[in-house]
Amino acid sequence: MSTYTITLPSRGQIYKDKDGNPAIPDGLVTMGPLRMKEQAIFANRASDNTKKLDEVLKRVIISPTIDPSTLLVSDRLYLLFALRINTIGPEYQVPFRCEHCDAQQRFTLDLIKDLTVKNARLDPSEDAKVFDAMTDLLDPSVPYMTETFDVALPNGVTITARLLNGNDENAIASYQKRIRTQISAASDPSIFYRMALMITQVNGKDIPITDKIHMVEDWDLRTSNAFSDAIEAREPGIDLTLRRDCVHCGAGNEFPVAFTAEFFRPRTR
Ligand SMILES: [Zn+2]
Repeated sequence: MSTYTITLPSRGQIYKDKDGNPAIPDGLVTMGPLRMKEQAIFANRASDNTKKLDEVLKRVIISPTIDPSTLLVSDRLYLLFALRINTIGPEYQVPFRCEHCDAQQRFTLDLIKDLTVKNARLDPSEDAKVFDAMTDLLDPSVPYMTETFDVALPNGVTITARLLNGNDENAIASYQKRIRTQISAASDPSIFYRMALMITQVNGKDIPITDKIHMVEDWDLRTSNAFSDAIEAREPGIDLTLRRDCVHCGAGNEFPVAFTAEFFRPRTR
């Protein structure tokens, strides 16, 4: 199979090379096919998902030369979907359990037609550039893509925040291993660590990661929701939320796309 080129949802705007030039001009990435040897990496149960994705992306990205662990989590997910669609096709059997009557069911999702992608809006100075079919480019509800951005919280604190990348996902996986004994069904403290990693400054000041974690732990619901909403508004990428009516009771369900073994090894019927 030949190579193909995709445009990252971030449009590559925040990636710079060592000279400060765009590392991924216009967000264009050229990829090769997923071969048996890459598929074997995904099948390895001993390795964690973030590391597997790093390893596979290193092998399938042809140009530009980038370290995939430095890419935003949302761009990495988009590359994973592009790889799947270009290797196997867009049809994916998705399982879900009705939250009203508990009936287990499955349906066929079209990964191209049934999922929406939010593309980053370009910096004002870049707006003059013409892109193909980017009708959402000027949507004023989508903020401009910048490496960091300020979030004014209802408690009066201003947070300078950033979006997470592959290295952060690896750090979170290590953190989870370290604190495994403290994780209970009721709470997983790694969510505080995850939020703390998104915070670069508090009221314009650098503070240690442990202080960021304690601050996030003490936030009330209104404050943490305001922060999460601000991050979500900034994050480009695939919307993984699906809405389906239960075939058994007819009730509406909303749930995220589940990743099963069939993502890269579809069932043949
Ligand atoms: Zn049901």
